Amino acid sequence: MVGTANPFEATIEQIDMVGKKLNLNPSVIERLKHPRRIIIVSVPVCMDSGEIKVFTGYRVQYSHARGPYKGGIRYHPNVNLDEVKALAAWMTWKCAVVDIPYGGAKGGVAVNTKELSKGELERLTRRYTAMILDDIGPYKDVPAPDMYTDAQTMAWIMDTYSQFKGYLVPEVVTGKPIEVGGSEGRNEATGRGAAICAREAVKHVGLNMKGLRVAVQGFGNVGQAAAEVLKEMGCKIVALSDSTCGIYDLKGIDIQAAKRHKLETGKLRGFGRCEEITNEELLELDCDILVPAAMENAITESNAHKIRAKIVVEGANGPSTPKAKEIMYYDHGIHVIPDILANAGGVTVSYFEWLQNIHREHWSESVVNQKLEDYMVKAFNDVLKTAKEYKVELSTGAYILGLKRVVDAQEKLGLFP
Ligand code: NAD
Repeated sequence: MVGTANPFEATIEQIDMVGKKLNLNPSVIERLKHPRRIIIVSVPVCMDSGEIKVFTGYRVQYSHARGPYKGGIRYHPNVNLDEVKALAAWMTWKCAVVDIPYGGAKGGVAVNTKELSKGELERLTRRYTAMILDDIGPYKDVPAPDMYTDAQTMAWIMDTYSQFKGYLVPEVVTGKPIEVGGSEGRNEATGRGAAICAREAVKHVGLNMKGLRVAVQGFGNVGQAAAEVLKEMGCKIVALSDSTCGIYDLKGIDIQAAKRHKLETGKLRGFGRCEEITNEELLELDCDILVPAAMENAITESNAHKIRAKIVVEGANGPSTPKAKEIMYYDHGIHVIPDILANAGGVTVSYFEWLQNIHREHWSESVVNQKLEDYMVKAFNDVLKTAKEYKVELSTGAYILGLKRVVDAQEKLGLFP
């Protein structure tokens, strides 16, 4: 029985579960449970005060059976090895689900960015990059942004890497500013991909997008773009939240006004035009589509019974525990589009960015969005087909598909020596 809140324990349980469904050899299952490499570094940073602080940084390279390691770098006080290992494993399955030629990795630094000046953040980023310099590279390991890192962070990583190489290497990271090789559409890609999945799921359950009520937890990169694209697709965004509060309006929230307020004040609290609700109330709202796009473990055994949405689209990584997913689907008939499919739009456009950089090309936004649409719709249909074949719900279907593709690659490569 699955149902733990430790993300790496949940990963192990997911591997065991898929191993049974695919009838995998125990030694194949054992191999899947271990990241290939773990890098832990102590990152000393000179603060503006002159004091030196030391932060712990991680890079976990889970698998490169299908291509170079690929995964974001997260700055958050709660970053720890188990979390980074779980996120690195999920990246491996995610790249396989959308069928892009990457393995999986993840990195992070345990730091509260809100307590650092821009200069301190830049020094932290450059020193962390220097300390993992030999472990990353365009054909080795290609980082990207994650929570509390952004395009500027990626520009600093690219510049630091390039300084050491002696020439500009844009393809070492993705999610960069457009001016230094970033891709059109990358900023909105994860949210857009989640919206495309929501639309395909809506079709699958026989509904129509027009007027469907959407609640989005987390009003950052993923949440904002998902809300905007779902609105463009005809839905009504009735609730949004960030770490300060939730806001609710059954008539539909003006997303642009909420974005402006968040940009000006740094928070949703005080938006004024809507009723303020708590984050718990947002998750339990009577709505059609719920997009948890903030943190891990927002939906667990304790609140899964209270979810009233018809479709849950996991914009964040690991926002619901495996047990919560079981409760939602088997007890309440709620369709959960799992993170490794729902938020794969970001890494898919990262792949497009890497291709553009390698070929020194720059594609238009419409070309990027059309390719993203094609990859996401194909991935959704592949997951649906797998789920039907193994008689499981979509989430388990996605894990079976992702792990099977990784196992197939490992088998073809064999074991060195
Ligand atoms: P972000 O930092 O831009 O936004 C995070 C948002 O969540 C912020 O608005 C923050 O206030 C809010 N938040 C934090 N704690 C909260 C809480 N307890 N309740 C409600 N809201 C809370 O981060 P992001 O890039 O949007 O990433 C969000 C999630 O999506 C993460 O799990 C990340 O790993 C995942 N993800 C991001 C990308 C990407 O391209 N950015 C890709 C794949 C997955």
